[in-house]
Amino acid sequence: MFRIMIFICFSAIALYAKPAITVSILPQQYMAEKIAGDTVDILVMVSPNANHETYEPKPSQMKLLAKSDIYFAIGLPFEKAWLDRFTAVSPKMSIIDIGAEVEKIELAEHDHHDHDEHGEHTNHDEHDEDELDPHIWLDPVLVKIQSKTIADALSSKYPQNAAFYMKNYENFAKELDELDAKLSKKLDALKNRSFFVFHPSWGYFAKRYDLEQIFVEVEGKEPKAAELIEIVKEAKAKSIKALLVEPQVSEKNAKIVADEIGAKLIKVDPMKKDLSKNLDELADMLLGF
Ligand SMILES: [Zn+2]
Repeated sequence: MFRIMIFICFSAIALYAKPAITVSILPQQYMAEKIAGDTVDILVMVSPNANHETYEPKPSQMKLLAKSDIYFAIGLPFEKAWLDRFTAVSPKMSIIDIGAEVEKIELAEHDHHDHDEHGEHTNHDEHDEDELDPHIWLDPVLVKIQSKTIADALSSKYPQNAAFYMKNYENFAKELDELDAKLSKKLDALKNRSFFVFHPSWGYFAKRYDLEQIFVEVEGKEPKAAELIEIVKEAKAKSIKALLVEPQVSEKNAKIVADEIGAKLIKVDPMKKDLSKNLDELADMLLGF
């Protein structure tokens, strides 16, 4: 009797166990869910409050990878160091870079914050001068391209669901087109088109909607007093009226700068799962709603 019970239990698990895939960040989970529906379980590596630039996988996550059929990379710095190790623990897992078809822009850095008092380079561990901007999930047009890559990869891994994935992709693509049109229309009305940000997450968003992102790379570190003075000077010179701050950066410093230049402090998290809602809310905040 006991043996039969165990047999039934295992059969039930086998029957209901879904295949699993892994993504690096929450916005990718959003894309993958739009395409895959509930046909797969999705593991997300970078947890909501972790810094996506300096993240390191936990041993428990490495173990879970062994069950994944696909790893969807997006081109974040940590992936460079870890993808080989992911393959080592999960040799059958396919690695798909969802940014492969995306045209990347360079991450131009501001000179005065790259040097310490002695003129030596600092803060270059994560973003080198000629490094490409990895924040490709913050532009609906590019998200469409990435979602197509996800749909294609899922369809070839699970061909029995291919028609479902393609239909989901088409619906999502339509949503993204609508979002893009809505954002263009909204942001057209924006008078001051430059905004200031501590971490340069919004390069693609700015490029798409003809805005200017001005940033200092602080990589989650507190800017020094001298840096804050430089930021204030530049923001004043450019009459910046919006200062974007991420939860990973000290709000205290951002508030000092905002008060000093009379700018609005906009709290925004580039890592939020629902990227569509996130972008739409950012547009509203820039417009002052
Ligand atoms: Zn980043």
